[in-house]
Amino acid sequence: MYNFAAGPAVLPAEVLRQVQSELISYKNSGMSVMEISHRSSLYTEMEAEAEADLRKLMSIPEDYDVLFLQGGATLQFAMAPLNLANRTRRIGFVDTGHWSQRAEEEAKLVTGIKAEVVASGEASNYTELPQAVELTENYDYLHLTLNNTIEGTMYKELPYTGKVPLVGDLSSNILGQEYNVTDFGMIYAGAQKNIGPAGLTVVVVKHSFFKDAPQLPAMLSYAKQAAKHSALNTPPVFAIYVAGLVFKWLVQQGGVAQMQQRNEAKAQLLYDYLDASQLFKSPVKKQWRSTTNVPFITGNQELDQRFIAQAQSNGLVNLKGHRLVGGMRASLYNAFPRTGVEKLVEFMQTFEETVRRTR
Ligand SMILES: *Cc1c(COP(=O)(O)O)cnc(C)c1O
Repeated sequence: MYNFAAGPAVLPAEVLRQVQSELISYKNSGMSVMEISHRSSLYTEMEAEAEADLRKLMSIPEDYDVLFLQGGATLQFAMAPLNLANRTRRIGFVDTGHWSQRAEEEAKLVTGIKAEVVASGEASNYTELPQAVELTENYDYLHLTLNNTIEGTMYKELPYTGKVPLVGDLSSNILGQEYNVTDFGMIYAGAQKNIGPAGLTVVVVKHSFFKDAPQLPAMLSYAKQAAKHSALNTPPVFAIYVAGLVFKWLVQQGGVAQMQQRNEAKAQLLYDYLDASQLFKSPVKKQWRSTTNVPFITGNQELDQRFIAQAQSNGLVNLKGHRLVGGMRASLYNAFPRTGVEKLVEFMQTFEETVRRTR
């Protein structure tokens, strides 16, 4: 069975097997990892190792905090403005589709914040991304969605090089595409796409970036979370544990550079087929195609539905596209095996052949 879900998404089989083998008794403690105290050394050592591995994988410098929070990427849509928009109280947004718009909407709900769209992919119906962003006004930060999970577009290189700090939503390509952490003031990602179980959100934020934040409720404060190593209340221990195992798996696999190479190769298999096909096509311009989320269409809703149903009965599941875009979407995250893409392309060829013969 191959799971093409956009999130929650496929996890490495080796990681799931390890979780299974030590589920009843974590490190021979006689307790499940779900039962241990978050004040115990069992937990603090596990958390510290997960953080160290993530720092290694992403080359995160000392002056950045790594936070393991809850509330998903969606809470960061509000938490980032609360903590980081302190001088001009203005935030620039690059409108790249659904998730960037949700981020902008939430920022606008924070009292006193002005959120402004500085560049937009709307004219292309979000099949292209704004290429170069230039700011004519001053902002506390510029918000960028690096991989657009629904539209299937991705920034491989950053479109902005100015002085205003960048805040990046990396929910669907963190650890699958190389970026320099130092190009950002803050990075965030919900875990359930390319990291681990839902319930964990990874935040990487430069310490000096939130030093002027006002007093905030503890759970909403980067400063307070950082001071308590993300454990100012009970953290999502199980989700952090699985994420930690995924980080170890990634280190063993050769790290982010290796993942990026594999993701590019996997995606290329599918895009090559789509570009050659008479039936299926990718709606996204080549330059902007995501390596982790690949939407495709036939242009005929009835055919799309038939394809999705038949794929499912052939063990290729969760290929239904997002309701905003329709058609199909194959999500090819780090843990998604190349053989799954090969099977998908084979199945698409057979389907296309059948359609041609019955026309
Ligand atoms: C899924 C997703 C979100 C929302 O994530 P939650 O963790 O469910 O809040 C935000 N941004 C992007 C790019 C996403 O793919």
